Amino acid sequence: MSDSDCLFCKIIAGEIPSEKVYEDDTTYAFRDINPKAKVHVLIVPREHYANVAELAADDADQLAHMVKVAQRIADDEFHGDYRLIFNTGLDAGQTVFHVHAHVLTGEKLDE
Ligand code: C5P
Repeated sequence: MSDSDCLFCKIIAGEIPSEKVYEDDTTYAFRDINPKAKVHVLIVPREHYANVAELAADDADQLAHMVKVAQRIADDEFHGDYRLIFNTGLDAGQTVFHVHAHVLTGEKLDE
């Protein structure tokens, strides 16, 4: 399912430009337009889920795959260390309601 009003569905479909880092049949990754670290990549499933809880309940394999993609990006762009964040809900700072993993890497991160 894809949501015609969803920003990340439009990015996945190529209707809104993005700087691609990785893609496969189920998953797309692109650079965040407002990076919070030297490397800041968003990993999204092609299928639309509002948040990580919905994804985990419906397709745990896809969630596990996203973690593997995060590791691959951190291996490619740094020495393998990374921070993985899923903001879930308005009060946690989620602004786009298509599940996305923030991968922060490329430098030593503040604690
Ligand atoms: O977790 P949250 O929903 O706040 O994250 C959304 C992220 O999407 C932000 O870090 C924002 O910079 C990013 N974004 C983007 N490209 C857009 C719109 C938002 O990378 N066109």
